[in-house]
Amino acid sequence: PALHKVIMVGSGGVGKSALTLQFMYDEFVEDYEPTKADSYRKKVRACTLTPKTLGSATQCCTPSLQVVLDGEEVQIDILDTAGQEDYAAIRDNYFRSGEGFLCVFSITDDESFQATQEFREQILRVKNDESIPFLLVGNKCDLNDKRKVPLSECQLRAQQWSVPYVETSAKTRENVDKVFFDLMREIRSR
Ligand code: GDP
Ligand code: MG
Repeated sequence: PALHKVIMVGSGGVGKSALTLQFMYDEFVEDYEPTKADSYRKKVRACTLTPKTLGSATQCCTPSLQVVLDGEEVQIDILDTAGQEDYAAIRDNYFRSGEGFLCVFSITDDESFQATQEFREQILRVKNDESIPFLLVGNKCDLNDKRKVPLSECQLRAQQWSVPYVETSAKTRENVDKVFFDLMREIRSR
């Protein structure tokens, strides 16, 4: 089957791993629940690119999933980045390997929204292609009462970038499949 390489980018704590885990394993785990937190950590470690794992084997930590996209079997590889500045030097390498990007922020965290600007610039610098498959993703939409980033601001930024804007919740699973499938459709149609 066709293989689509997707990269999760965004500030720490916005829910990149939670979205990846929810999509891959249909699972969401809250903090502070010892037993579950442990299995959560294990899975996060399995699918998060950390500076440590980068030293030895970069490819072993990309989870892969076979899905049916509009009646066609495709394989999706998700690179769930950890976002530390430490490995900015090799960041360009995995951005280069990505065919599509989910640029995630939390609607409860304005700083994470501001940070999307820099991720966008980094990606465009490496891919040198304004029309690279890319979705702006406002996560944690279940926490709408704690919203710090007005919907209109999110939509405006997406409009300026000419990319779709979708709000998700890794907790309730709202739009989780949608963002991955919409991105795969964008990749396929290129
Ligand atoms: P990452 O650093 O971007 O990978 O963020 P994580 O996936 O580790 O999530 C950070 C924290 O936010 C964790 O405590 C998650 O349980 C929580 N979280 C992630 N997504 C959501 C969401 O959609 N809704 C809520 N309420 N919490 C979330
Ligand atoms: Mg993570």
